Order: sequence, then structure tokens, then C-alpha cells
Amino acid sequence: MAGLNDMQEQACEHVDGPLLILAGAGSGKTRVITHRVAYLMEHEGVNPLNILAITFTNKAAREMRERVDLIVGDGADRVWVSTFHSLCVRILRRYADKIGYGKNFDIYDSDDQKSTVKSILKDFQIDPKRYPEKMFMAEISKAKEKYLSPDEFAKKNAADYAGTKAAEVYTEYQSRLKKNNAMDFDDLIYKTVELFEHNPDVLDTYQNRFRYIMVDEYQDTNHIQFLLVKMLARKYRNLCVVGDDDQSIYKFRGANITNILNFEKEYEDAKVIKLEQNYRSCGNILAAANAVIQHNAGRKDKALWTDKDAGEKISFEQCDSEYAEGDMVASRIKTLVRQGVDYRDIAILYRTNAQSRVLGEKMVYANIPYRVYGGTNFYARKEIKDVLAYLKVINNSTDNLYFRRVVNVPKRGIGEASLSKVESFADAYGLSMMDAAARADEIPGMAAKTSAKIRQFAELITSFRDMLADGESLDSVYDRILEDTGYESELIAEHTEEAMTRLENIDELRNKVVEFTEDNEEAGLSEFLEEIALVSDLDAMSEDDNQVKLMTLHSAKGLEFPYVFICGMEDRVFPSGIALNSDDPDALEEERRLCYVGITRAMKKLYLSAAKERMMHGNRVYSDVSRFIREIPPMLFEHEADMKNMAKRRESESVDRYNRGEGRRDAYGSSYGDTYAGYSGGRTAGAASGRSYGQKNPYSSYAKQQSYGQPSSQPSFGKAFVVNSVGKPDYAVGDRVRHIKFGPGTVEALEKGDKDYEVTVNFDRCGVRKMFASFAKLKKC
Ligand code: ATP
Ligand code: MG
Repeated sequence: MAGLNDMQEQACEHVDGPLLILAGAGSGKTRVITHRVAYLMEHEGVNPLNILAITFTNKAAREMRERVDLIVGDGADRVWVSTFHSLCVRILRRYADKIGYGKNFDIYDSDDQKSTVKSILKDFQIDPKRYPEKMFMAEISKAKEKYLSPDEFAKKNAADYAGTKAAEVYTEYQSRLKKNNAMDFDDLIYKTVELFEHNPDVLDTYQNRFRYIMVDEYQDTNHIQFLLVKMLARKYRNLCVVGDDDQSIYKFRGANITNILNFEKEYEDAKVIKLEQNYRSCGNILAAANAVIQHNAGRKDKALWTDKDAGEKISFEQCDSEYAEGDMVASRIKTLVRQGVDYRDIAILYRTNAQSRVLGEKMVYANIPYRVYGGTNFYARKEIKDVLAYLKVINNSTDNLYFRRVVNVPKRGIGEASLSKVESFADAYGLSMMDAAARADEIPGMAAKTSAKIRQFAELITSFRDMLADGESLDSVYDRILEDTGYESELIAEHTEEAMTRLENIDELRNKVVEFTEDNEEAGLSEFLEEIALVSDLDAMSEDDNQVKLMTLHSAKGLEFPYVFICGMEDRVFPSGIALNSDDPDALEEERRLCYVGITRAMKKLYLSAAKERMMHGNRVYSDVSRFIREIPPMLFEHEADMKNMAKRRESESVDRYNRGEGRRDAYGSSYGDTYAGYSGGRTAGAASGRSYGQKNPYSSYAKQQSYGQPSSQPSFGKAFVVNSVGKPDYAVGDRVRHIKFGPGTVEALEKGDKDYEVTVNFDRCGVRKMFASFAKLKKC
């Protein structure tokens, strides 16, 4: 119990029955899970095999295992510490046959999903310009997150055209994946739940196996993950979940904050422990985080405190452009390093991956070692996918997708027409295309020359299979593949810089093969492919590399760094334009939670920065400093006076605007509870700042940004500002009205101002709002 406070200790000692640890950032939730695992083994004599700990990333899983190892010395490797996905893969590799899949199923990444959907749209003659693949992918994913089968989904969506189409595509998509013996990421969890539902004996095995279950970052679990945990824990009910409702940042991926908020309802006898001491951040940083998150309505109030010193004040700089911002960050890092700070202790966080390009460039210019996490995934690169597809086909994958990917790469003169014939033949005989290729001579209507080429390809693949069967090592087979297929020589012949990079990447993958075979002597190609399918580059993060870490705020969840830079603190970057324009009032709150996550990553010093203008979606866009900056009390900043002035300037500007008749857009802005009541915030910020600060083309960038998000229900929003006065509205106190964004509500008051009516509405969904009638556009219902 060394290194735990009383509450943390209590949490560890609660052994039987459901337990909820609900606590703010840096309060030691993850540490409690780690210690609890150790406690169960050491004090309660629990067999490590009976413990399951679920983390959000593979990296967290690895760290947790290492820490448990340190505490208990032995047996930690037998505890199952894994992500939801790797847990499910392990289960399905044993039992997938019970739900009609082969145990060696392939795991589709988003690229594979996309090409499958694309080909379905083609076959169904659905125009991808009107109904983009991404939309179907999102619908399918959402359905799976809710555990809706294609049939159930079809029933739910029978009423509208797009819904019906989505259901058809979903049905076909599932049947194609099954035919190819493949599962996508969402399937991994979905199919495990399905397996348990239809096979009580299998479920029972795992219930007995996992008598003690712990889930970290529970606030970001979605419905299907909730179901899975609930099923596994049903028998012994030793379920411990930890989380922080203020850090729920994956709603767009289906995470359901109510999983944590309703835990006490689901498990009435649950013990609830709250941790309030933050051990991570200095006082000023923690105060800033607390101040920001307090602007969210309807949250469970938590008061985090620290006995650490106030520490250094927070730095804020508004630079002229994103380039100036990058220079500023680089120069601050150089200063830190001169003072003896290690590069590895510094992180640069940002809202969108796109920001990493300029920041990365500036690190290069300044000679600062750095690594970008996330971004273009190494495994999503074309050459890596090609080589992996070869490996999958060699590994007896029956998946036609991989066969198609490599059969003509490099070019072997096998065209689409011939491939269709191979596919028809395969379908007719219930074969995979690969098996059909081996029998190319029998395929009707195919020229002898073509069928010879196809058969040769099949023979080539078989030769690699034979090498593996003869016990040749994975890395030497890897080399043979690159050589014998002609893939490498084609790249070498290309003589371009791009081809060189591809060759380097292929070499990097070879390093991974070698590393893998060294670490897993018994394992073969299947195991290698599985490991690759589940890793992200974040998992490869290592403290050995003395590099500055660049990553999105989302990726930084659960991590901590002594020095943290958060760049792009501008309205419409962070909070994102999509959130500012969203119909859903929670969208902005989710951005604020993300800001809270970002701030609370910092231990010693936090640097916030903004650019006055930056390139966004192909336009130079001028932006105001993020509202989140203004939610932090000026006294916490290095230049307190400047921050106060900024706030004052803002207030007087907004009063000016108001007097000019432009201020009434506050009807929307203030509805989000902006601290500076006069400031025109909220969803109108884009157009508002465009006007008052002389943006070159206020509407073009704004409109563009809207098109990035979901189709907006209010596409011509900017027009609202043109209206200056209206006659008496056609509703009265007591009437039911509907607002385009806030939904239905009841009119509580109606006052006539000099130009406009001010109306107070109590909205069913989001409470009382005061707004100007001309902008509110309420409809009587
Ligand atoms: P997050 O919400 O960001 O995931 P968390 O609640 O999981 O945070 P941890 O990462 O477990 O918090 O802990 C934050 C930091 O505080 C870690 O460096 C951890 O080692 C340290 N810490 C936690 N509890 C204690 C304690 N009782 N004494 C000293 N240090 C502690
Ligand atoms: Mg944690």
C-alpha cells in the first residue's frame, strides 16, 4: 500500500462486489488499478489468471503490466491486461467457429472497410458523390456500437430512403466480410458479445476465468463495450471501473458517458469512491483546469486539489501565424533544454493532426529531435499495406480483398476482366479467389496466356507457403517475397525519392519482423499479422527515445508530461468550428472536456499558444483567441495584465458591436455560458469575427468549414445577421415553440426592446435561454 492515500487504499482493499472510482484527472485512478491488481494477488491470494484489466491503449496495458511486475515481482505476466480489442481477438481466435467464422479470420482496417463499401456502392449503383462511403462506414460502425444487427438496423431505419440504403449496404457488407472470413474493428467486440449471447457455456468459461475485472477510462466505453463487461461480470460481480466524466472525449466514436453516470443504477450495491487529490500538476495548472471545466453545465461537481506548490504561471502567446507559433514553440523548447530539461519530458499537443505538419517542420529547422504520434499511420502506407497483403495471402487468408490487392502488383498483365472471371469461378465452386487462381486452367472463357499468368501467381504464393512450412525463418521468407515478386526491384527501378521512402518503410517493416521473431520464438506468421493488426504507433512510444512528442489532444489521454505545449488555442480550431456550429449543445462541452484533458497532462509547466491567422482547409483564416483561454482566470498567467487587457478589450469591442446593432447574435453565444457575457461567442464566432476584425472574406472560410462537418440543418446561417428588426413575433408567453438548434420549449417571457423583442424560453433539453426574437427564429408548435 506504499504510495497510496487513504481513499486509494480503500479502493484497493474493496475486493468483492462492484466498485466505482469516479475522480478527476491525475488523481491516481490508473495507479489504483495497478495497485489493486497487486493487492489481489499478494493479499487475497487471487490467481493472476483470474484477473482482467482493460485499458484504453496497448501502451497503457504494457505499462500497467510492467508496474504490476515491479510491485509483485512475479506472476504479472499471467494477468490479462489488454484493450477491449485485443481481449476480444484472443477470445475469438479460440471460438470464432461457433459463430460461423474461421479462427484465422482477418482483421480489416479502415482502408479495407472503405474498399469493401466502395465496391458495394458500385454494385448497388449508389452514387458515392451523394452518399459517400464514409457515411455508410459511420452508420455501420454506429449500428455495431449499439449492437444492432443488419436486420434490426433495417427495421429501425425502414422509414427513410437513406436509412434503407444504409441498411442494405450494412447487410451486404456483413455478408461480404463473412465470406472473406474477415472482421472489422467494431466486429471484434460485436462478435464476442454475439458469441457469448449464443453460447452460454463459452461465456461461463470466461466468467469463471475473469473473476476480477477492472476497466480504466470507463467514461469512454460505448454501449457494446458496456454489454461485454456486464456479461463477463454477471456471475461474480467483482467489477471495478474507474473514470472521469469530465474526460469523456470520444462521443463521436459512440462513447457513452451514461455508462459511468449510471453505474450506481446498474449495480445498486456499488461502492463509490471519489479521489480528490491531484498528484500530477502544480497548483496553477490545476486551477486553470478546474476553471475551464466549470463552464460545463450539468456535470458532477468535483473539487480537485493539490498540495503541490502553485508552480510556474501559465504561458500564453498569440503569434501572427501558425509558422510564428511553431518558431515560438521551438525557441521555448530550446530554452528549456538549455536549462537541463530532456526532450522526452516535453509534449506538443494540438486539436487536429493537420497542425502537426508545420510544428514538425519547425522542429526540424530548430534541430529538435521529435516524433509525431498518430497522423498517417505507418501501417496505412501503400507499400506497407501491399507487403502485408502478400503476407496475409501467404498466411492462407481466404480474403479476396488481399488477393486482389497483390495479384497485379507489380504488374503481371492480369486485368479486371480476368479477375471477374476468377471471382465468378470462385463463387460458383465456393472457393476463395486464391484457390480459384490455382485452378485457372479450368476457368471458362479465359485465354490460355492469361490463365497461365494467374496460375503462375498462385504458384508463387504456394512457394512462399512451402518455405514457411519447411521451417524457414520469417525474415528470410520476407526477403524472398520482396525479391521473387519483383516488388523491390520495381521500386528500385523507379529511382524517385518517393520510391526510396517506400523502400525504407519496407525495410522498417522488416525490422519489425526481426524484432518480433526475436521476442516470440514460437510464434509464426499468423501471430505476427495479429500483432500488426492491433498496434498503433502510439504503442511504440518509448521513454528510451529522447524526443519531443507531438500528438493530438485525443491521443494524450491518460498520459502525463512535465512540460506541455497546447497549440492552436483559437476559436474554430479549438473549440473546433464544427463544435461551434453544431446543433448539439454538448459538442462544445465535449471540446471543453478535451481542453481539460489537455491542460491536466501537464505536470510542471503549461504553454498555451494561438495564431492570429492560419491556413485552414485551403483558406487563410483569422481567428479569435479560444474561449477556453478566456475561461482561465488572468491571474494564473505569466502576463496577468495583458490577459486582463485582452478581456477588457474584448468586452468593449463587443459593446461597440452591440451598439452598432451587431451584438444580438449573443442570443446564441451566451447560451453556452461564455464568461464574458457581452462577447459574441458560440456558433456565431466565425462570421462575427469576420465582420468586426476585417477578415478578408468572412464567409468563404466559414462556409467551407461547415461543409466539413455533418450536413448542417442551417446552411445559410450567416444570413441571420442581416436582419435588424422585426415586428411582433407570432407567439406569446406560455406558447410552445421550437428552436432550430435547441429544440422544443415554452415561452416564459417576452419583452419589447427598442429594435427587437427579447424572448425567454425554457427549452426541454437545455433549460432557460434568453434570446432576440429576430435571431432566434422560433417557430410556434
Ligand atoms: P488520468 O485521469 O489523467 O488518467 P489518473 O487519475 O489515472 O489520471 P494517475 O495517472 O494514476 O492518475 O496518477 C497521476 C500521477 O500521480 C502519476 O504520476 C501517479 O504516479 C501519481 N500518483 C497517484 N497517486 C499518488 C499517491 N498517492 N502518491 C504519490 N503519487 C501519486
Ligand atoms: Mg488514468
